[in-house]
Amino acid sequence: MRVDRHWSEKRLEEMTERDWRIFREDFNISCKGSKIPRPMRSWAESKLTSELLKAVERVGYKKPSPIQMAAIPLGLQQWDVIGIAETGSGKTCAFVLPMLTYISRLPPMSEENEAEGPYAVVMAPTREFAQQIEDETVKFAPYLGIKVVSIVGGQSVEEQGFRIRQGCEVVIATPGRLLDCLERRYAVLNQCNYVVLDEADKMIDMGFEPQVVGVLDAMPSSNLKPENEDEELDAKKIYRTTYMFSATMPPAVERLARKYLRNPVVVTIGTAGKATDLISQHVIMTKESEKSSRLHRLLDELGDKTAIVFVNTKKNADMVAKNLDKNGYRVTTLHGGKSQEQREISLEGFRTKRYNDLVATDVAGRGIDIPDVAHVINYDMPGNIEMYTHRIGRTGRAGKTGVATTFLTLGDTDVFYDLMQMLIQSNSSVPPELAKHEASKFKPGTIPDRPPRRNDTVFAH
Ligand code: ADP
Ligand code: MG
Repeated sequence: MRVDRHWSEKRLEEMTERDWRIFREDFNISCKGSKIPRPMRSWAESKLTSELLKAVERVGYKKPSPIQMAAIPLGLQQWDVIGIAETGSGKTCAFVLPMLTYISRLPPMSEENEAEGPYAVVMAPTREFAQQIEDETVKFAPYLGIKVVSIVGGQSVEEQGFRIRQGCEVVIATPGRLLDCLERRYAVLNQCNYVVLDEADKMIDMGFEPQVVGVLDAMPSSNLKPENEDEELDAKKIYRTTYMFSATMPPAVERLARKYLRNPVVVTIGTAGKATDLISQHVIMTKESEKSSRLHRLLDELGDKTAIVFVNTKKNADMVAKNLDKNGYRVTTLHGGKSQEQREISLEGFRTKRYNDLVATDVAGRGIDIPDVAHVINYDMPGNIEMYTHRIGRTGRAGKTGVATTFLTLGDTDVFYDLMQMLIQSNSSVPPELAKHEASKFKPGTIPDRPPRRNDTVFAH
């Protein structure tokens, strides 16, 4: 097999389809949508204006975070976006930069147009969130001469209305207060075509759906993109762009998205709000010698459904596959010892259900579009939790539920701690042998001076 260079050693023009897939995998980026622009690998390769790039440099963001890599190119082309990524992943900047870019193309605010209201509105559930968004926005906005006003509870509505009418391009608001302002005619949104709903699930949880809807309905609807995605967009026309960020997608959030977003691209980073919700995770403590019979039992229960069986080595892949084949299962393999062409053939057989079961190593899965399956089985537990997340992400895609079963042995103690945290966080049951084990209590190699926090590794890339 030809060993290819990693994408990071290639120039942009050299990137192949496979490089892009590996790139997305490396940053845990998943995008749902057709004909969408590629993510940006770096700030330098983004299509941001030189003014904004300078601002980014002054702010000190060396590299875009994964959500920024994926969402900024979409925002710059005015796609509607649903972003799902965990707290602390840099979502604010991911919508602020495209928003400022959009505004910088419009005529500056002047006496002529300021009475028509702001060009963009950002809604967030609480004052504190609104404050954080304002802090992030004013890092960049002044470089472009863009003014920001925040409209939140606790200050006088008259005063806030006055500040809007004095001319500002961006309003950052809590939905209740903004609607109040609009209803009392202190503010209008006649030229607002850029909308961000941040923390959408929280806004709904807090009961703000009617207010959010009220604000959205106060904007000119003539600028909504056509419902039919095949319809040509008019290059000269300004369309409303709507960004929605949420940690999860409960039905009320979906309802909002269906009504106000047009063919949105769904960007998910990592497994935030996905794996943990849609994949039911089972861990079975076992011995090496019992794995084979346990696997047979699992596959028998699955009947006609497909499964991917992950193992850690090429040798194991061949051994497990041979054993299954001998026992009458329709099985194929995918590992690094096979050529790209052989791998495509295996996959094709699996996709068309000629084979029910695919035995695979991690190496083989890199950069290959493995179809969605009902069941992922970790015959061997991988050596780190990122790979575990990656593997189980092969199921539970596109809103369908999935099941992941992992065979765990006392040889896997290095990952006991992380695995247990993962199971706890996703409300999965933890086998007593795992819960009680010494290795589950501390992360290997760390001095337990403070408990790890969820955001510890977000910018590790
Ligand atoms: P989220 O909305 O996803 O919870 P924020 O947008 O509030 O996250 O960002 C979290 C922190 O990360 C902020 O302090 C922000 O300034 C910082 N940050 C955002 N993007 C970058 C980046 N590319 N590089 C370094 N720090 C960043
Ligand atoms: Mg945020």
